[in-house]
Amino acid sequence: MKPSHSTSESSPSLPALACVLACLLVPSLSSTHAQEKTAIRIDAAFPGGNILVNKVEDDTVTLGPEQRDSLLPWFYWYYRVRGASGRKLAFELGKDNMGVRGPAVSIDKGQTWNWLGAEAVTEGTFNFTFPAGAEEVRFSVGMPYLRADLDQCLARHKDDPFLQVETLTRTRKGREVPVVRVRDLSKKARYTVAITSRHHCCEMMASYVVEGLLEGALANDPAGRWLRANAEFLFVPMMDTDGVEDGDQGKNRAPLDHNRDYAVASPRYPEVAALKDLLPAWTEGRPLVFLDLHDPALRTDIHETVHFLEPEERDMAARMDKLCTYLERDQQGPIIYRKAHNLRFGSGYNTHMARPSPLSAGWARSLPNTLLGCTVEIAYANAAGCEVNTHSGRELGRDMALALSNFLRDSPEAEPTK
Ligand SMILES: [Zn+2]
Repeated sequence: MKPSHSTSESSPSLPALACVLACLLVPSLSSTHAQEKTAIRIDAAFPGGNILVNKVEDDTVTLGPEQRDSLLPWFYWYYRVRGASGRKLAFELGKDNMGVRGPAVSIDKGQTWNWLGAEAVTEGTFNFTFPAGAEEVRFSVGMPYLRADLDQCLARHKDDPFLQVETLTRTRKGREVPVVRVRDLSKKARYTVAITSRHHCCEMMASYVVEGLLEGALANDPAGRWLRANAEFLFVPMMDTDGVEDGDQGKNRAPLDHNRDYAVASPRYPEVAALKDLLPAWTEGRPLVFLDLHDPALRTDIHETVHFLEPEERDMAARMDKLCTYLERDQQGPIIYRKAHNLRFGSGYNTHMARPSPLSAGWARSLPNTLLGCTVEIAYANAAGCEVNTHSGRELGRDMALALSNFLRDSPEAEPTK
C-alpha cells in the first residue's frame, strides 16, 4: 500500500468504445412542428455511462442497457439527453430494466438525483417533459456514484487528522484504486473494521451507505469518538474501479466477476489480489469485522429490503444477529431496517448452490481473527416502503456505524488473537 499522490484524481478516461457508438444524433420526426424542434442527442460518453439506443420514432425512444461482458442479462443504464428542451419524450426501457420508483433523474449533470416516480412509468416506459432551457438531462436506473463523487466526499474531510487516503493498487486499465483509512494515529486500536463495495460495479446505491459509514467513523459524536478510540477502519469503496468508471454491469462478468474472484488461487483482478494480501497484514491479528455492501436485484420481495446475508458459521451468524439487533434498535435514519428481512443461510439465494464460495465475505470469514464477515444488500429504490436515495442511504450508513460501535463495545469474546 502506498500513499496516493492525489485524492482528487478521478478517472474520466476515454469513454469506452461502446459508449461512443451509443452517441446518436436524432432528428425529430414529428410532423406538426418539425421546424421548431432541434435534433436531440442521446449518449453515454461520460464516466459511468451505459446505453444502447435501438430506435427513435417520433417522440418515442427505444433503448436499453449495454450488457458488455455480463453473462446474464442485467439492468444498469445511465445516459444523457441534450437538445430536448421543452419537449415531451417517451423512453422505452422494458420492465426488467426499470426500478420501482422509475428512473433517477438529474438536471445538473449528475450532481444531484431524484426518482421520477412510479407514476411516470407504464410497462417499463417512462415519459419525461424536458424543462424549457434544460441543456441536458441525465437518466439512470439508479443514482450513479463515481470516483468523482467519492473525491467530493473525501475533499470535505481532507483536513481531518483521522483520515488517510491511499492507493490499494492499480486496475488492469491503470486506474488507481483508493483505499480510505480512518484511525487515530496516536494509538493502536483494538478492533479492525473493513468495508468494501462495488465488487459488482453497477451497484451504486451501496456507495451512499459506505459514505455514511465513513462519515460515522469520522464523526465528532459519541459513537464516532468511541469507534476511533477502539477501532481502525479500512474502506475500499470501489473494488471494481474500472467497471464503475466505464459504466459496466459488473454482475456476472465473464469469466467471473470480482466477488467470485476470491474462489480462485490466483485472482484475476489486481484489486482482489491486493486486498487478499493487505487485509490479513493490516489487521495484525486484531479482531476483524468485514462488511461487503451490495445492491440486490431491482424489484420484488427480498430485493426491496435492506438485508444481511447470514453466514453459515453459527458463531458468526450469532454475531451478525447481535449487530443487526443494535441496528434495528438504535437506527435513526429514514430507512427503517428490519432484522426479519435478513436472509438466513440456506434460504432464498443465500445457499452454496446459489452462491459458489467463497465470495469476498466468505474469504474474510476464513481469516482466523474474523469476528464477523458478511454481505449486506441495500435495495436500489424501495426498502420495505422507505425511499432509498442519496440522503437516506448515507443516513443508513450512519446508523450502521452506530450499530458497529455498540456491537464492538459488547464483544466480550473479542480478545485479540496473539
Ligand atoms: Zn452485488
